[in-house]
Amino acid sequence: MKIEILTLFPDMFTPLHQSIIGRAENAGVVSIHEEDIRLHTKDKHFKCDDVPYGGGAGMVMTPQPIVDCVRAVDPDNKARRIYMSPRGRKLNADIARELAGEDFILLLCGHYEGVDQRALDICGFEELSIGDYVLTGGELAAMVTVDALLRFVPGVLGSSASAIDESFSDGLLEYSQYTRPAIFEGIEVPEVLLSGHHSNIAKWRKEKSEEITAARRPDLKK
Ligand code: SAM
Repeated sequence: MKIEILTLFPDMFTPLHQSIIGRAENAGVVSIHEEDIRLHTKDKHFKCDDVPYGGGAGMVMTPQPIVDCVRAVDPDNKARRIYMSPRGRKLNADIARELAGEDFILLLCGHYEGVDQRALDICGFEELSIGDYVLTGGELAAMVTVDALLRFVPGVLGSSASAIDESFSDGLLEYSQYTRPAIFEGIEVPEVLLSGHHSNIAKWRKEKSEEITAARRPDLKK
């Protein structure tokens, strides 16, 4: 899978390339590249934003650098083009799984007051939000999206079962997890988890999942 991230702040993406995702990149499962939109501006002062027509606070990202940047990284219009935006469809596990099936994803990060609508229309961007709040820029939203979708790409997680047996995978939140030691500050791990009895463990986990989901997110239950 190939992921291109279009941003005015490529240095913000250092954390994305660590740990599990860094290993997936090194293994050739995914290639992630950040393209600096500013490199594509024709403005002699490298400007990529301007005041909004109609007035109002803040600046708007100009269309020319974005359109040229998109054409440079995806000349054959092969990518699924996504603009990170609070106006978009809200990211969830189903959407992450759907995006994991793409060969090429292009993510556009807005900044300031957002992006000139003509850049979005010309390039055919769909919009994707990571939640009902406003961030200062799309960079964190892009990182969240990439992280969430890559968990569904075969070969990214160590165990193929990991992404299946997790919160939201079956409309339930995950059961509580425990590791060594068996007693910590006087609190014991539930006995059934030490029993080695697989069907009893599975039953306990299912019940815990249902209990936690009912208490915290009753809306998830189909
Ligand atoms: N004026 C815009 C509005 O009210 O919808 C908000 C612009 S926001 C300050 C700057 C950029 O952050 C946006 O262009 C978008 O790329 C990104 N952004 C902000 N909130 C987001 C969210 N919830 N999900 C995805 N991207 C977001």
